[in-house]
Amino acid sequence: MEEKTKKGVAILGSTGSIGTQALEVIESKPDNFEVELLTANGNCTLLIEQAKKFKPNAVVIADESKYKLVSDALWPLDIKVYAGHDALSQCVEMEGIDIVLTALVGYAGLKPTLAAINAGKHIALSNKETLVVAGDLVTQLAREKGVNIYPVDSEHSAIFQCLVGDFHNPIEKIYLTASGGPFRGKTIEDLKHVTRAQALKHPNWEMGAKITIDSASLMNKGLEVIEAKWLFNLKPEQIDVIVHPQSIIHSLVQFEDGSMKAQMGLPDMKLPIQYALAFPQRLKSNFPRFNFMDYPNLTFEQPDIKTFKNLGLAFKALELGGNAACVLNAANEIVVDAFLNDKISFLKMPEVIERCMQDIAFVQKPTLEEYVNTDEQTRLLAQELI
Ligand code: NDP
Repeated sequence: MEEKTKKGVAILGSTGSIGTQALEVIESKPDNFEVELLTANGNCTLLIEQAKKFKPNAVVIADESKYKLVSDALWPLDIKVYAGHDALSQCVEMEGIDIVLTALVGYAGLKPTLAAINAGKHIALSNKETLVVAGDLVTQLAREKGVNIYPVDSEHSAIFQCLVGDFHNPIEKIYLTASGGPFRGKTIEDLKHVTRAQALKHPNWEMGAKITIDSASLMNKGLEVIEAKWLFNLKPEQIDVIVHPQSIIHSLVQFEDGSMKAQMGLPDMKLPIQYALAFPQRLKSNFPRFNFMDYPNLTFEQPDIKTFKNLGLAFKALELGGNAACVLNAANEIVVDAFLNDKISFLKMPEVIERCMQDIAFVQKPTLEEYVNTDEQTRLLAQELI
């Protein structure tokens, strides 16, 4: 039998910011990767266009009302078309898939990721919410199934890259860097009237709407702290956040001898995406190179958790454990959606999240069903509070 030379890639959320960049990476490396599965929520026009170009074995459109449109467009190409959220979890099990890039947004990533791990597929994890909601279940299943979870988030990719060659050496501490977002340096007074448009203007990264708001409120860094705990098996006191407005140092590891390793480069998600898909190889690329003279000063500051309460709330959820981070995530998804729809102010977001964390019943060691219940109850409460 001929040996398979290309990795079969499934991209969950191929029409988003990470998904489209992943397809650019794959297009530039036709000898290394082939696309097996593409999925979208509702953007059928782009999904069809991508499927025509990359000829995957199958596509999934989560919004079932768009099934006919997609299936009419793709049947002449012999591409299987499925619809609905359950189809995401079923399709990740397909035989030709070696690695699943989880590039969909939010809690919706949890079930398909668990299904992929259960089917023995390696994960390139962009969907951080999956680990925030149920990091214990996800990492335990990955260990049982011998599945690797390769981080895509630039900070966690940086930590992972720093650990290569040092996996046997204990980590003393990690530093996750944060750009500080568009509102760095602002006071509570300044934040009272900031708008959606201002929050969507990230200084260094172009990303989907949800993560851009999370970056402005520092919730993104909070979610990343929890993600780091699960990816690298760390205690809360081993994780620190440092604001680095230039986003050149993507994160750092400090080892027990005091030595620190950092990974740096221009802010460009294609690099960590390619690294996760190609690991353990570093594939040649023509991504723009860093020039020291363009950045003569790299600076660092403490995060302002008095003003940006979300980061403190995430650390609290991390300390509490159990279902606390699941509550944090569900409440955050609701308030971000409300903020994006001009229903609440920027400062109302942490207020609602904090109330949900106080009022939703704490479960010390939740089952998957209990996580699902927590998510549902929190969403209802957050909606009421808005
Ligand atoms: P986008 O909003 O740009 O894209 C999300 C993708 O997921 C789209 O393909 C969308 O489909 C699909 N999707 C959205 N909701 C659902 C759902 N309920 N069910 C199924 N599919 C859904 O997000 P990003 O690419 O910015 O982010 C994706 C993930 O990666 C997030 O978890 C984010 O935190 C993480 N991440 C992103 C970074 C970035 O630079 N963008 C950096 C680091 C991490 P459709 O287009 O049809 O709506």
